[in-house]
Amino acid sequence: MNNPTIFSQILKGEIPCDEVYSDELCLGFRDISPQAPVHILIIPRKNISSLKDAEKKDAELLGHLLIVAGQIANKEGLEDWRTVINTGEKAGQTVFHLHLHVIGGRPLEWPPG
Ligand code: AMP
Repeated sequence: MNNPTIFSQILKGEIPCDEVYSDELCLGFRDISPQAPVHILIIPRKNISSLKDAEKKDAELLGHLLIVAGQIANKEGLEDWRTVINTGEKAGQTVFHLHLHVIGGRPLEWPPG
């Protein structure tokens, strides 16, 4: 079930965001609670709750999000960065509109918590 989320409201312009990228398929904006000097979220304009709900027909869209992640990281001057997609509550997903985190600007440890 695709319930509207805060990200749907951002897409509709009902709540502001610190936009860094926009095209017909997705929107990129700075995370409100950054975990690193660069922390950007990329969200599809299509309402997909999580990666669990992505379908084969979404393959091109998902690939596009990854390409945009690289373009944004490059524009932000990042040489190394991490892309994260949290899927499900126990994996840390709090907003149920598929989104990709681009995190960088400091050394990142592995494994994550
Ligand atoms: P996740 O925990 O993977 O679902 O990530 C959700 C992210 O959305 C978190 O890092 C939040 O800080 C971020 N977030 C929540 N509300 C907003 C908002 N209004 N603007 C920007 N980022 C937000």
